[in-house]
Amino acid sequence: MLDIRLKAGLLVAALSIICVFLWLISSAMTALLVFTSILILYLFSHIFWLHKLLFWFKKPTLKEIPEGSGIWEDVFDALLKYERNNNLNQIKLNSALERFNLTANAVPDGLVILGNVNQIEWCTANAENQLGLNLDTDKNLPIVNLIRDSHFIAYLYSEVYTEPLKLKHCRNSDATLEIQVIPLASKQKLLISRDMTQLEKVDVMRRDFIANVSHELRTPLTVVGGFLETLTDMDGAVPDNLKNYFGLMQEQTGRMRRIIEDLLTLSTIESSTGNPNNNEIDMHGLLKSIQKDAINFSQGLHQNVKRAKHHIRLEADANLNLRGSLEELRSAFTNLVSNAIRYTPTSDANNSGEILISWYLQDDQAVFSVRDTGIGIEEKHIDRLTERFYRVDRSRSRETGGTGLGLSIVKHILIRHQAKLEITSILGTGSAFSIKFPKARVVKKQVGV
Ligand code: ADP
Repeated sequence: MLDIRLKAGLLVAALSIICVFLWLISSAMTALLVFTSILILYLFSHIFWLHKLLFWFKKPTLKEIPEGSGIWEDVFDALLKYERNNNLNQIKLNSALERFNLTANAVPDGLVILGNVNQIEWCTANAENQLGLNLDTDKNLPIVNLIRDSHFIAYLYSEVYTEPLKLKHCRNSDATLEIQVIPLASKQKLLISRDMTQLEKVDVMRRDFIANVSHELRTPLTVVGGFLETLTDMDGAVPDNLKNYFGLMQEQTGRMRRIIEDLLTLSTIESSTGNPNNNEIDMHGLLKSIQKDAINFSQGLHQNVKRAKHHIRLEADANLNLRGSLEELRSAFTNLVSNAIRYTPTSDANNSGEILISWYLQDDQAVFSVRDTGIGIEEKHIDRLTERFYRVDRSRSRETGGTGLGLSIVKHILIRHQAKLEITSILGTGSAFSIKFPKARVVKKQVGV
């Protein structure tokens, strides 16, 4: 096929030759007349095809593309090819979109795409069902107009989505959903809703099982422990050569009792769904009493061994109080302090056995921290310390009366108080366990009032 420019050039050249020839055999006037008439005809033919093109653009279909003539044949040919490609791409795009929709709807989780002002742009059928949405009617509406749960709204606007949010299913109040938001590029968000009902049921069963087993074991253990104590206290009841075994039995029943108590505490905290008490806690008084208990605990540990004592210091901001559950927070703080004592060997050397309990304000957050000069923890263990029964050194934990559940209890208490535990440690030098409480829980006492 000839190039359009070449065609046009040939046409003009042929017309010019014809006109020159006419000029030679006839006159300049005849040649000019012929030249002008042909040009006018040519112009009309262009206007005709241009009109056809405009007409076609109003209803562009593959079948109706005009065939054209001359230069316009090439133009319509190119248009035909372009339209065919376009149609093919459209078909491919539609089938890709259909595949995407099928796949997205096959995902058991609900998926919602939110726009820059949290308006619903798209969602799957599961999201419609779990969150009570209807894409046909709710498209472009802000999601907070449709899901009015205050926790959900606060979570969405917080812009901090590291932890998922638990939410009640909109159509079934017995069912629980887990909501996770993932920020996407261009200020969009992907909201994922997951039905956690079954997992929750299994979790409740697990918790109930542990609580029941612990309850059932507590009574026989108390009886066994009581008899052992009575026998040990009775003069002549235990022959001298068996006294050692009795001591061991008492020690082990004591350990089992502590594990059971910790398991019961853990399951009680785990199954508490309501918010913790929000009373203002006199932190100075609480920390003083924790320091006193710590000194007693340290002395108790050294009862049978002659060692230097721990130096337990307290540095507390007397004008700083906290809102929360006194009982739960006492348990969390005591756990950290007793760990510091248990994992800090003492000697008369400088800085040995130093434990510093501090309470202060930092960037609007209240911080409770326990710093020790103990054995320290290798970096690789730090993330796992709050797992149940995770212990770096099993024998040391046992020796000092540990159950492996202390930090797990701390973690759950902190979750209930929206607080975070930060651990830093250097092996052989010491550790620092800091709890950071959010601004909402901080109470600054008015000085001089
Ligand atoms: P345990 O009853 O064994 O102390 P925890 O849950 O309280 O259980 O602590 C888990 C583990 O974390 C401990 O076994 C110990 O290895 C480590 N750990 C906790 N606190 C300290 C600390 N202050 N210094 C060194 N290691 C610690």
